[in-house]
Amino acid sequence: RIAYVNGRYLPHAEAGVSIDDRGFQFADSVYEVCEIIGGKLVDERRHMARLQRSLDLLNMARPLTERALAVVMRETIRRNRVVNGVVYVQVSRGAIRRDFPFPPEGTPPTLVVTARSNDLSKIEARADKGIAVVTVPDERWRHVDIKSVSLLPNVLAKQAARDKGAQEAWLVDAKGYVTEGASSSAWIVTRDGVLVTRPLAGEILPGVTRSVVLDLVAEQGLGFEERAFTVEEAYAAREAFITSASQSVMPVTQIDGRPVGNGAPGLVARGLRRDYHSKAEFT
Ligand code: PLP
Repeated sequence: RIAYVNGRYLPHAEAGVSIDDRGFQFADSVYEVCEIIGGKLVDERRHMARLQRSLDLLNMARPLTERALAVVMRETIRRNRVVNGVVYVQVSRGAIRRDFPFPPEGTPPTLVVTARSNDLSKIEARADKGIAVVTVPDERWRHVDIKSVSLLPNVLAKQAARDKGAQEAWLVDAKGYVTEGASSSAWIVTRDGVLVTRPLAGEILPGVTRSVVLDLVAEQGLGFEERAFTVEEAYAAREAFITSASQSVMPVTQIDGRPVGNGAPGLVARGLRRDYHSKAEFT
């Protein structure tokens, strides 16, 4: 596998960043993950807009213009011969003698781009069965709307899920409401057939897949409420699913060991999964 690191394409074994990198030292770093289907980037514009937003909110410089980054992403995809998979982009505030405040203006940011293939048939098999989620307390910091690599709470949540044989963790706020998944947006469909997902009020990451699904929901005239839902409501839901760039719409068939609805992927989730790529933008 070949990675792009600050202007060079190198085999992963030789690619690296400095031990002084602020991404390594302080998690002073942001990232994006974009799906690749048939060699094309999916929803690139929305991912690049969110990257810019993350950079702006942290006052971090762009390592490359958007156009140059688009070229680097494609070159990384090409060199890794990825047809279906994901491209990963990480930008840190650069490498410099360890000191908490921002480095002097002009310190070059670090840019890493990698790409890897995904086995679509495995993801489809997963979607046919649906995944299990467990709920855990949301222990993250307040700026979760920024896609930063400060992901230790997400790591612990995912491990808690794995320890229980589940594939995702749903994070729950102090009032008992689900915020989102450890690496996905969380959705339910109520017994009345209404789709529910949490509003973007700072407590969740503005998911790109979420935003495309919202366009699809509006287009199809599906019943929808943008509001927080509790764990109890999720237990009683007819359907549940998650959305993320790497899995698009993934049905959830078990929450904390209880079957969701009849325990099989729901009609709404399956329909949205089927239609997702008709609404997504390929570039
Ligand atoms: N929420 C969190 C915390 C995430 O890490 C992710 C993606 O990794 C998402 C939501 C889904 O976002 P997207 O649909 O843009 O991949």
